[in-house]
Amino acid sequence: MKVVVCIKQVPDTKGGVSFNPDGTLNRAAMLAIMNPDDKAGLEAALRLKDQYGAEVTVLTMGLPKATDVLREALAMGADKAVLVTDRVLGGADTWATSTTIAGALRNLEYDLVITGRQAIDGDTAQVGPQIAEHLGLPVISYAQDIKIDGDKVIVERLYDDRYHVLEAKMPCLITALAELNEPRYMTPGGIFDAFQAEITTWGRADLKDVEDGNLGLNGSPTKIAKASDKVRKGAGEKVVPDSPEDAVAYIIGKLDEKHVI
Ligand SMILES: Cc1cc2nc3c(=O)[nH]c(=O)nc-3n(C[C@H](O)[C@H](O)[C@H](O)COP(=O)(O)OP(=O)(O)OC[C@H]3O[C@@H](n4cnc5c(N)ncnc54)[C@H](O)[C@@H]3O)c2cc1C
Repeated sequence: MKVVVCIKQVPDTKGGVSFNPDGTLNRAAMLAIMNPDDKAGLEAALRLKDQYGAEVTVLTMGLPKATDVLREALAMGADKAVLVTDRVLGGADTWATSTTIAGALRNLEYDLVITGRQAIDGDTAQVGPQIAEHLGLPVISYAQDIKIDGDKVIVERLYDDRYHVLEAKMPCLITALAELNEPRYMTPGGIFDAFQAEITTWGRADLKDVEDGNLGLNGSPTKIAKASDKVRKGAGEKVVPDSPEDAVAYIIGKLDEKHVI
């Protein structure tokens, strides 16, 4: 069984987001990490490897620096890594990103493609389902549990208040949630091997069955016109009422004033 996991290198948004004066993200000021949903997707693939002997390939599209997340994935136990990088692919929106990744996937054999639900920087959750659409694959999103039964995958798909158990014939695409599992650490031996490992690097010429008009900034139907910080909340008001009853009356009054209740 062959599994390809799409992983994205993202700025760690936990420590806050930093902007350049022109409104673009100041990526240099933020630590770059493996997108958390993708890490859970990778862990799920590695568990399939432990259980069924699957071969796990990780694939990323990004700047050459994105090899850092590929090496991290190899050190966790992935077998092969592919970097898709080319100047003409820059500035891609979700359409151009998914077209590029689908073009790269057409060169690979797979039974399962796993992506994260969403990337913590773009936050669109569109790339996984779009890749499935390009490749004509069924898609099961929001996976919180993945099992294999012969040529089928059986997946628990999370909803707000329940989950559905879905079955699909492979090949298929699954989008994974960070809640899916606890990703393993890299092993010291894995780190040594990953440092030496060869990473397959593909450019525009290696993408199969894609047109230039669907790639990079020029092939993106959407363009980011402006980006800005959120408007900061006011400082708030501190009130010290005389009794619990007064406190409740004050809060109810405020909620009433704002038509919340
Ligand atoms: C330099 C730069 C310029 C950009 N310019 C524009 C622009 O002009 N207009 C615009 O609309 N957007 C732009 N973007 C944002 C871009 O659209 C998104 O980064 C990209 O399309 C992915 O969307 P997302 O982050 O919302 O991914 P999501 O759809 O949230 O990601 C879902 C899953 O898809 C997979 N995935 C997503 N991206 C990748 C990847 N690169 N490699 C491997 N797997 C991946 C991951 O598994 C991920 O968990 C730019 C980004 C960069 C880095």
